[in-house]
Amino acid sequence: MRYGRALAALLGAALLLTLAACGPAGGEDGGETASPGGQSQEPQPETRTVLAMDTVMELKAYGDQASEGLARAEEEIVRLEGLFSATREDSEVWAINHAGGIPTLVSQETGELLELSAQLGERTGGALDITIYPVVQAWGFTTGNYRVPEDGELEALLDKVDYTAVVYDRRAGTVTLPQGMELDLGSLGKGYAGTQAAKAMRQAGVTSALLNLGGNVQAIGNKPDGSPWRVAVKDPNQEEGYLGIVELTDQAAVTSGGYERYFEENGQRYWHIMDPATGRPADSGLLSVTVIGADGAQCDGLSTAFFVMGKEAALEYWRTWGGFELVLVEESGTVTVTEGLSSSFTLSDGSAYTLTVAERTP
Ligand code: ADP
Ligand code: MG
Repeated sequence: MRYGRALAALLGAALLLTLAACGPAGGEDGGETASPGGQSQEPQPETRTVLAMDTVMELKAYGDQASEGLARAEEEIVRLEGLFSATREDSEVWAINHAGGIPTLVSQETGELLELSAQLGERTGGALDITIYPVVQAWGFTTGNYRVPEDGELEALLDKVDYTAVVYDRRAGTVTLPQGMELDLGSLGKGYAGTQAAKAMRQAGVTSALLNLGGNVQAIGNKPDGSPWRVAVKDPNQEEGYLGIVELTDQAAVTSGGYERYFEENGQRYWHIMDPATGRPADSGLLSVTVIGADGAQCDGLSTAFFVMGKEAALEYWRTWGGFELVLVEESGTVTVTEGLSSSFTLSDGSAYTLTVAERTP
């Protein structure tokens, strides 16, 4: 099922020459497709499609260093997938999960991501919990064998969910996880990979590029003409349409929602983001959360956590910690953007949504 999804998406991307596979944060606004006449003086990008981290990634770069930069970005993404994959038996996460409570030596990257996970876990009151993995498995999201677990089963599994039990010893470079627990970095690994791939590209001399890691978008610099990248935020209620456009310069935009990965049973929809308090799909009244900021891993982790926490708690977090901006889409049809986006987010023409701006001091 997972390969099916990725392959279908890849074919879509290849046939339509669009970011068909883009996840929630969508692709770019249509504005920059090459003109049919082919006479334009616009610089043409080099592109690359990468199948990694269980998704389809579309990378594009401009300038003389574009090829070199794309090669380095792909290398970096593939390398990080090799460390973070929960399902590959040669990954570091696999080693941690199967160490039976014994300390496991990990790379600096895995350590860094575990430290961020712990910090975000604490700041979000456990809404982000990387040890939720056994619960995600019970619902069938890791295999495609979807099912609704019994209450008793979920209660028993929740005993194994506690991000504070993950112990990373930075000096020793080891991670210890109690026997029977399992972690997965699916909530922030793609965001981290985007930011690291962007670093690799900048080191290769690339100054203008856009990386779409299955809906986690990472911008490098601006468009070749010097104006900000324009990235579409998907409409959670519409397969095709987009909700609006957000402008990015050297930033990531990461969306979490319940509309991309779900199954239905008895008329009820169940999605892949779990509330660690209940072991059930998060149901906070939000349809999607987009986090925009300089640190892709943080944006990714927060988008997952805020989808669990809901609008008011997300805005409270933003007011307390700052350092990023938000687009919150509610079931009620309201779109709330934080004030830093007031001039860089535009709702689509004729949108059925109502836009409001959240102020830092309400
Ligand atoms: P996507 O991977 O679709 O972009 P997210 O970044 O929101 O979406 O991450 C969702 C993944 O994170 C799930 O597939 C699951 O593996 C894991 N997950 C689900 N709920 C939580 C949670 N509350 N905290 C941490 N990880 C979670
Ligand atoms: Mg996330």
